[in-house]
Amino acid sequence: MSDLYFKSTRGSNEKVLSSQAIVNGIAEDGGLYIPEFLPKIGKPLSYLKEMNYDELAFHIMKKFFTDFEDLVLQECIKKAYDSKFGDPAIVPLIEKGGAYFLELYHGPTLAFKDMALSILPHLLRAACIKIDIDEEIVILTATSGDTGKAALEGFSDVEGTKIVVFYPRDGVSQIQERQMITQEGSNTYAIAIEGNFDDAQKGVKEIFNDKNFNKILRNNNYIFSSANSINIGRLVPQIVYYIYSYLNLSKLGKISKNERINIVVPTGNFGNILAAYYAKKMGLPVNKLICASNENNVLYDFINTGIYDKKRKLKATSSPSMDILVSSNLERLLYDLCENDTGVVKSLIEKLNKRGEYRITPNMKHKLKDFYGGFATDNEVSETIRDVYKSFNYLIDPHTAVAYNVYQKYIRDTKDTTKTIIASTASPFKFPNSVMKAVDDKFSNYDDFALLEKIAKISNCSIPKSLKDIDKRKILHNTVCKREDMKSIISRILKI
Ligand SMILES: *Cc1c(COP(=O)(O)O)cnc(C)c1O
Repeated sequence: MSDLYFKSTRGSNEKVLSSQAIVNGIAEDGGLYIPEFLPKIGKPLSYLKEMNYDELAFHIMKKFFTDFEDLVLQECIKKAYDSKFGDPAIVPLIEKGGAYFLELYHGPTLAFKDMALSILPHLLRAACIKIDIDEEIVILTATSGDTGKAALEGFSDVEGTKIVVFYPRDGVSQIQERQMITQEGSNTYAIAIEGNFDDAQKGVKEIFNDKNFNKILRNNNYIFSSANSINIGRLVPQIVYYIYSYLNLSKLGKISKNERINIVVPTGNFGNILAAYYAKKMGLPVNKLICASNENNVLYDFINTGIYDKKRKLKATSSPSMDILVSSNLERLLYDLCENDTGVVKSLIEKLNKRGEYRITPNMKHKLKDFYGGFATDNEVSETIRDVYKSFNYLIDPHTAVAYNVYQKYIRDTKDTTKTIIASTASPFKFPNSVMKAVDDKFSNYDDFALLEKIAKISNCSIPKSLKDIDKRKILHNTVCKREDMKSIISRILKI
């Protein structure tokens, strides 16, 4: 099989294999790595249907990670999707309310980020060995809540790595924060910053692009890498579960041969939905990709008008992992929309950085027709959680509720009867306050920890072991810093 190379969305001449792209995280010119071409699924779906999750993961990932030895890649997959997952199906598909909820949250941190972050550390280790990197890898990550914990957990005590996570002090839930600040592992650092997610993300990007600082780091035998969803080592593993769940539907006899489905994804940084879009481009029969936003509805506006405008105030919503104004992975979609014209991508991103907005051409806008954009307000999210619970006896978290609400709007708008998968991205246990308040107002005055018991009771599920007694665990991280101090904090951690 010939090698697949990755290049930048912004047009530099850099061309690397997957192991190098995984280690670098971001391209030299600040762009994102994209494969030179998108491989096809290759085998007939009827053949793939017989595979278990690990086998399918190998089949798909190997198409992108061509420079990984088969055995090495298989080993990474095996270490990632094991008993850490609370459900033997890894990604169970639950039929409720006229849709199929794809529960992506049975990993160790109870959000879909585990699907990628339980494998990324192993891919990264293998990549370093492959390309003879002796330096210690410093993973630098900005988080809107779920990435941070999933990355800390994934990298905890992984040899040859340190992980530093910056999260917005007032932008994550009580449980999310507690999950991070109780993280064990001698190589883990969780740091609160005074600001919102975009501040954290911007700060991390600046550090990545700071040539001088990178040089100092190298002189001290360190290199940076990213665990953010821009890393292809995260993006590619996410393609797998869309294909797997399609095959599942087919196996269950819910869809006929090559029948198309819709996929609804509650979206923030545009990573998860991009993976669904890539699955479609690889040949999965997908009709609409439904991009569901919360009140930070930049993507809704973009899909409907062709104008991306980040000049607005970020709102703190009940779905904090989607409180984002600049969706990094959208740059990869732009690359496709303008038919791989990296000059166009570069100029759009420059406009976004300088003026806070850009407009795509009518031609590019036309290509967005694969997507439907909708959004849900916090009130609608609450109503949706309550309705779904009362009608179907099924408890969903606020992120999943954004998706289900937008799905209902989509049906109202289009009368489309295509079978639909809803990406269910977090466990209701992760957002006890919003979930229980929505179910019944009498729970408004409880704290998150007390509510875990209540959720267990009404959902008939036991409290996941990663959250049990979390309020009694020792707090191991307590640094708070300003955005401008992020660099000096890193210097202090690395003693450079
Ligand atoms: C990260 C996250 C999202 C958004 O996913 P993107 O890939 O950033 O679009 C949605 N829901 C939950 C629970 C998340 O953690």
